[in-house]
Amino acid sequence: MLFLKSHETTTATLKYMKYKVDLHNHSCLSPCASMELSPRVLVKNAAAENIDILALTDHNSTRNLPAFEACCTKKGITPIFGLEVNTLKEIHVVCLFGELDAAESFGNYIESTLPVIRNNKRIFGEQVIVDAYDTILGIVKPVLFSNASISYFELIPRIIELGGLVIPAHIERFINGAISQLGFLPDLPYSAVESLLIPCAYETYDNTIITGSDAHIPASVGCRSFFITDTRDFKPSFSSLADALQEKRITYR
Ligand SMILES: [Zn+2]
Ligand SMILES: [Zn+2]
Repeated sequence: MLFLKSHETTTATLKYMKYKVDLHNHSCLSPCASMELSPRVLVKNAAAENIDILALTDHNSTRNLPAFEACCTKKGITPIFGLEVNTLKEIHVVCLFGELDAAESFGNYIESTLPVIRNNKRIFGEQVIVDAYDTILGIVKPVLFSNASISYFELIPRIIELGGLVIPAHIERFINGAISQLGFLPDLPYSAVESLLIPCAYETYDNTIITGSDAHIPASVGCRSFFITDTRDFKPSFSSLADALQEKRITYR
C-alpha cells in the first residue's frame, strides 16, 4: 500500500507535492484593516486554513513584519515579507522579499516618500504596530494609504533588481488596480499577476496568474489562495515559491 507524506497528492499516473499559498493580507497597521486583524490573528486563521506560505502586505509599511515572522515561526508557516505599495496614479502592487531586513529596508524607503498627511482615525481607523502577542508598540501618524512617490514603471524593475517578487494587485478591481488606473495592464516583467477571479478575463500576456485573500478582516483570511506544485520533493520557501511562479507550477485547488 502506498502511504503519502503530508502535502503529497496523486493523480492516476503522477505523484506530486503541493503547498497552499496566500500572498496578499493586511494587518491592523493598514488604515483600512480591522483592529482585530493582528499578525497573530492573521497567522492563526491562516493555519486554520492550512496555508503553508503566507505573506503580510500592509499598505506602504513593513512595521508589523517582525511580529508576523515570530507568529509564523510558532505555527510552522513559511513567512514571506511584503508590503502593498500604492504608486503614483494610485496603483497597488504587492512587493515581496525572502528576508525580513530586505523588506524593512524597502518599506522604510517607501514610508519616507509618503506625504506627511495625518491619519484621520475616524475615517480610516488607527494604524497600529503590535508585537506577536497583540501588545501595542506604537501608532503610525501619517496616513499610510497615500501614494508613495514612485511610479508603477519605476517600481516594477526596482523590486526585481532587489531580488524580490513584484505582483500587480487585484488588476481588475474597480479602483487601485492597473486596469482601472491606466486602462490596461502594461506588459512588464512581473513575477506574477494577481486577479480576484480565476480565470482572469483580461489580457495578462504570458504572466503567471495568482489570486490572494487581500484580507482586511479576520474572516477573510484564506478566502482566496493558490497552490505551488512539483513532481519532485520540495520544501516551502521564498525561493521555491519564486521558482514555481516562474515555471508556472500553479494550481488553484
Ligand atoms: Zn490593494
Ligand atoms: Zn491589499
